[in-house]
Amino acid sequence: MMKQLLKQIATSAAGQFGPHRMGLLTHDPQLWVLMYHRILPREDIRYTLEEPGMIVTPDTFAMHLRELKQHFDLMDFSEWLRLRAAGEPLPRRACTITFDDGWHDNFEYALPIIKATATPVTLFAVVEKIGTDFQFWPNIISALLASNALTAMQQQPLLARALNQAAAPADMRNRESMAAVIKTLKQFSDADIFTALDEISWHQHLSFELPRGLMTWDEVRTMNNSGLVTIGSHTCNHKRLNAQLSNAEITHEIVTSKALLTQQIPTAADIFCFPNGDYNSAALDAVTRTYSAAVTTQRGIVNAANTPVHQLCRIGLHEHVSHTPRLLGARLSGWI
Ligand SMILES: [Zn+2]
Repeated sequence: MMKQLLKQIATSAAGQFGPHRMGLLTHDPQLWVLMYHRILPREDIRYTLEEPGMIVTPDTFAMHLRELKQHFDLMDFSEWLRLRAAGEPLPRRACTITFDDGWHDNFEYALPIIKATATPVTLFAVVEKIGTDFQFWPNIISALLASNALTAMQQQPLLARALNQAAAPADMRNRESMAAVIKTLKQFSDADIFTALDEISWHQHLSFELPRGLMTWDEVRTMNNSGLVTIGSHTCNHKRLNAQLSNAEITHEIVTSKALLTQQIPTAADIFCFPNGDYNSAALDAVTRTYSAAVTTQRGIVNAANTPVHQLCRIGLHEHVSHTPRLLGARLSGWI
């Protein structure tokens, strides 16, 4: 009870007095880089199969844009970076919208709202997965759990370990259990998880067809041709750029993704997005040599004077933390 009350007071204070309202903490221009993944209505099956931290509903996204326009200069990311690099004046409180991965629902649900409100956004595409039937492993895991395929999963050592560590009950068909198993699996490499899923032939155990994950290149081009959506690189294959990857793989994900993206989208932005926010020093070096800027998943507000331009922090938004203007305000403080 007390804890909840304190939380409410903190939310309210952060919303009213946070730096997005007061600008008291610094005289340097600031940039709020907002991170979105998926835009889906609650009744869509994809909503149920996704981690809660990945989604906002179309209504919530539209509300965000209305609120943001009242408190910020909503800017194109590349334009803000260009002004900063040229030493030209920047708005004191600018904000820019980013989408990670290239989900098909961005085309279905975000693009109409982006167009109706003429909001510039940047979309970071997983370059070698766009236009394929690739599924991210957390969605496959959720679909297996929703299909009650526990017996098949228990027969594979890595998956069995994750189920046991997540203290899996007999019925895992709820979002909390799905999130717990996914969190446990993140200790393993992406390659090991995909190998485990291949070993049990995951397709065979689904009781329904898993909806398409990512856009086609034509859909990406349609977004780009709206004149409001700039496309940046989010690697070739969404491999986390940590010590589990060889230097050759790191170079492929970072350097080759830029070349392949530019072939598809000649006007692509020179901005990179680290998958899962992970990077080691080799990855940071390669990104610094290859791109003019990069975003992480580190939470925070960018200070134009001193935030390193290849490690730009962002504020992640999802339904639970931002479905009312008051919650959104608190989240934008960077404190909650
Ligand atoms: Zn991603």
